[in-house]
Amino acid sequence: MKEDYYDILGISKGASAAEIKKAYRKMALKYHPDKNPDDKSAEEKFKKAAEAYEILSDADKKARYDQFGHQAFDGNGGFGGGGMNMDDIFSQFGDIFGGGGGFSGFGGFGGGGGRRSVKGSNLRIRVKLTLDEVANGVEKKIKVKRKVQADGVTYKTCSTCNGQGQVTRVTNTILGRMQTASACPTCGGAGQSIDKRPSNADAQGLVAQEETVTVKIPAGVVDGMQLKVSGKGNGAPGNGISGDLLVAIQEQEHETLKREGDNLHYDLYVSLPDAVLGSSLEIDTVTGKVRIKIEPGVQSGKILRLRGKGIPSINGYGKGDLLVHVNVWTPKTLNKKQKEFFENMRNDEHFQPKPESTDKSFFEKVKDMFS
Ligand SMILES: [Zn+2]
Repeated sequence: MKEDYYDILGISKGASAAEIKKAYRKMALKYHPDKNPDDKSAEEKFKKAAEAYEILSDADKKARYDQFGHQAFDGNGGFGGGGMNMDDIFSQFGDIFGGGGGFSGFGGFGGGGGRRSVKGSNLRIRVKLTLDEVANGVEKKIKVKRKVQADGVTYKTCSTCNGQGQVTRVTNTILGRMQTASACPTCGGAGQSIDKRPSNADAQGLVAQEETVTVKIPAGVVDGMQLKVSGKGNGAPGNGISGDLLVAIQEQEHETLKREGDNLHYDLYVSLPDAVLGSSLEIDTVTGKVRIKIEPGVQSGKILRLRGKGIPSINGYGKGDLLVHVNVWTPKTLNKKQKEFFENMRNDEHFQPKPESTDKSFFEKVKDMFS
């Protein structure tokens, strides 16, 4: 049984974003590997806290976790918790401890310090999706300008730290001898420094290059959600690893369909004769047009529920519905003959409203709308 993320951070379910951050900061400092060298249980706690924070600090992931627990992140196509490595954890620190100080920063080449491997910076882009793309999932080819190691660049092992990236210092304190490890002042923690730098490369030996990245977007994504493409951010010098490409989803409005969670809404206008006599009409869905049957005597305000014609759940738990709102269209003007017809009907007892309980219920029972 996997431990509860709130329990791991020692906070209640109602904790605010600031409280979550504070709790994680405390845990991260306490169990940081630099402070607990060769302590496996501290490392375990450090990793668990990082995973908990990864989920609870992200509004979408937190909402899914609150609703479904750990299973919200099982087999959902690769985002979410589970299996964070140290590089992921350290890259998270930028947000927690701020740039520069503490454990954060770009390991080598003039960043903060203390990191074991150098990771390139993340790239962020936004991708606009139509509702159809959201509903069906889509593969997008995106042009990004990312930094990569220049042709001909070489790196050498740092002679100050012998490639360890850190130097240990022994100091005498009132508590006894303390051994502290800190980032190598020469290479900044990377363990490597630049050897040959081509003229077109920057101080880290990198050049910007345009690349086309294929991003697989699963069905059911939500506006504002962020997908991570590992290793497609900026490259890093030496043996460092590339940062990630973070893809923010932007959903475009559909002409006739409105999204509400996984459900879709459609306003259907029915002519007076169609409402009275019944009809069969075509409406837009995210999988093409669908023909629906209008029963004779349909009332304005009736909602037809087309089960499973909405958006697939991002968690893989089924699909939303398409709710068709019926509006009976009343003509604003009539010619003489039409006016005569309605004048005659006005006094006909049959045309007096006699609402039944089923006409009043907001959500009607599900019927099979497909003929
Ligand atoms: Zn060094």
